[in-house]
This record gives sequence, structure tokens and C-alpha cells, in this order.
Amino acid sequence: MVIILQVTQFWRCDQKNDGCKVRLHENGGTVILEMGRHVHRPNPGRLEALKAVTAMKRRAEETEESTSCVISTQLQRISQEAHGSLPSADALKRRVRRVRQRTGAALPNPTSLSTLVIPEKYRQYAPSPGVIENFLLFDSGPSADRILIFSRPRSTEVGIGSEHVTEKY
Ligand SMILES: [Zn+2]
Repeated sequence: MVIILQVTQFWRCDQKNDGCKVRLHENGGTVILEMGRHVHRPNPGRLEALKAVTAMKRRAEETEESTSCVISTQLQRISQEAHGSLPSADALKRRVRRVRQRTGAALPNPTSLSTLVIPEKYRQYAPSPGVIENFLLFDSGPSADRILIFSRPRSTEVGIGSEHVTEKY
């Protein structure tokens, strides 16, 4: 069984509330498209703080370290300037715990295709808050040679292969 997963992520500038309309598309860590121009000056402290929060969330997902350990490890690494752009300590804890709650209920690996049940949350994809797309487009049903096709609907419309998820046997 081969699973290929490449999803394009859509980003907006975090200062969109201040009127910045920059958007970009990222695939596997590479920016493939950037639209618009920032209406503000770059703030390195803010960017560093955002990266630190992202790193905390990743640690929370991938390790069993305590919430305070996950946070303090990143805090030690960032500049004074970035500290000023971070959310409060309580807000950071809440974010880390939220990641834990989401990933904590991860399912065990399936043992066979005939008994595999795909829960609702894995059949759908949310490209942005409040927008839900069907991610599981086809399921031939429980059997030893089951075929599952996962894909973003909009990628089939525009025919971009990089956004496809394919599963082969
Ligand atoms: Zn901007």
C-alpha cells in the first residue's frame, strides 16, 4: 500500500485585520505563489514569536513532554524582542493543551482493509475555519482489495496533481 500526501496550504498575512491583504500558497515548505504587498513594515520579533508558537504546537503533537516544558524550551531560544510579541503565558498553555486534545485521540493503525473504519473527521478537510470539504471522495467498501480515494475537490476541478492524495495497492 502506497500513500502519497501532498497538500497545498493557503496562508494570509497575520496582520489581515489591519488591512494587509497578502496571501500565499505553500506546498511542502516551499512558497509556490504569493499575492499582494504588505501594507506594514516587517516585524522580526513578531515573526520569531509566531515561529516559536508553531514550534511549541509541533512539540506538543510529537512528544510527551509536559506543557510547561514544551513552552519553556522555546522561550529560552527566542530574543527579547520576540518575547514582547508572544501571547500571555496562560494563552500559550491553552494553545498547547488544545493541540494535545486534538491529537491525543489519534487512532491506532488499522490492521486490515476490511475492518478499517474511517471516522468523519478524517473524511473531511478544512482549508480554513468554517470551510469543510469532502476529503474521502471514493470508498469501494470493506474488502481485502478496498480502494480509497482521498482528494481535495478543488484540485480535481483545476487538475493540479500536487494536491492529490492517492492510495494504491
Ligand atoms: Zn502583511
